Amino acid sequence: MTRLAIQHNAVNLAQGFPDFPAPPEIKAAAQQAIAEEHNQYTITWGARNLRQAIADKYRRTYQLDLDPEREITVCCGSTEGMIAALLATTNPSEEVIVFEPYYENYGPDTWLCGAERRLVQLHPPDWRFDPDELRRAFNNKTKAIVVTNPHNPTGKVFSREELSLIAELCQEHDTLAITDEIYEHILYDGAVHVPLMALPGMRDRTILVNSLSKTFSVTGWRVGWVLAAPDLADSIRKVHDFLTVNAAAPLQQAGVLALSQNESFYRDLSDHYRQRRDVLVSVLNETGFRCFDPRGAYYVMADISGFGFPDDIAFARHLLENVGVAAVPGSSFFEDPRNGHHLIRFCFCKKYETLEGASQRLRDHAAQLSS
Ligand code: PLP
Repeated sequence: MTRLAIQHNAVNLAQGFPDFPAPPEIKAAAQQAIAEEHNQYTITWGARNLRQAIADKYRRTYQLDLDPEREITVCCGSTEGMIAALLATTNPSEEVIVFEPYYENYGPDTWLCGAERRLVQLHPPDWRFDPDELRRAFNNKTKAIVVTNPHNPTGKVFSREELSLIAELCQEHDTLAITDEIYEHILYDGAVHVPLMALPGMRDRTILVNSLSKTFSVTGWRVGWVLAAPDLADSIRKVHDFLTVNAAAPLQQAGVLALSQNESFYRDLSDHYRQRRDVLVSVLNETGFRCFDPRGAYYVMADISGFGFPDDIAFARHLLENVGVAAVPGSSFFEDPRNGHHLIRFCFCKKYETLEGASQRLRDHAAQLSS
């Protein structure tokens, strides 16, 4: 969609990357690290000071104690973290539970491992799952459950109660949880992020994947990390070593500064995105869409049934070519595309002027439809 958005000169509300600058002090730290010759390979599982900064951050924020020497692996974004975690822990034909709709990468991730995906539905409007359906998904072939929290594409934030049930089932079936927490600091309306790893009994059976990408608006830097108990980390480090060796050395150094931000940085981040969410959601609701209000992350899923198009692909194409706004067809997030034919996903990690540009085009479109 990004490629098509450029081709059609459309406002790109498809791919989730900010179009505003990254924080200047973090950029300066990267430049300084290059000047100071952090330009060679690092220890494959990450520069020692970055692993220490990650450990400090989790202790400060969640009272989680992690050993930087044995439990933290720095990798090339959470994209690599997720595939390294899955390759290190699953065998062909074992099952991995994934909530649907799901972030597209988990499809190829599980295919590459030869693992079977077992889907559990999240139901609109608040994207709750049916506890019995989840219970039924666990069986003696289940190796892991992937939990994206906050969730892309829906903006769901899993409640402590929901996480407790997941924790209970993981322990009952001796299963791993792999959590993708890259939107942990983008929360609205009083939502609270609880890492599954912090729940009783989950410390050593959770693999937590995260990165600098979203919190620090540096999606192109490709610096992420995986937290896991030493036996799991040992396998993950081996996979990581042969996939990529190490994340970019100077950017790891900038990560040390990034992770030392105080709580006000994260509060401002949520505030900044909440205002953008409110702009986009209100314009979408006003112009014929029906939005499912996100409580976290920076996407909004919208129902397009009111427009009378045959499916989401036809509608996304119309929006791109005739309205000048790019969004992601909802079917991309479902195994069976028919389940997403009435949905489209917009992102709002954009400058106000970008959102205003899209708003104007959507309003003009709504006016044309009603005339
Ligand atoms: N996980 C989720 C849920 C995402 O939405 C994205 C990017 O959109 C990623 C992972 C990719 O993250 P990274 O840049 O850390 O590889």
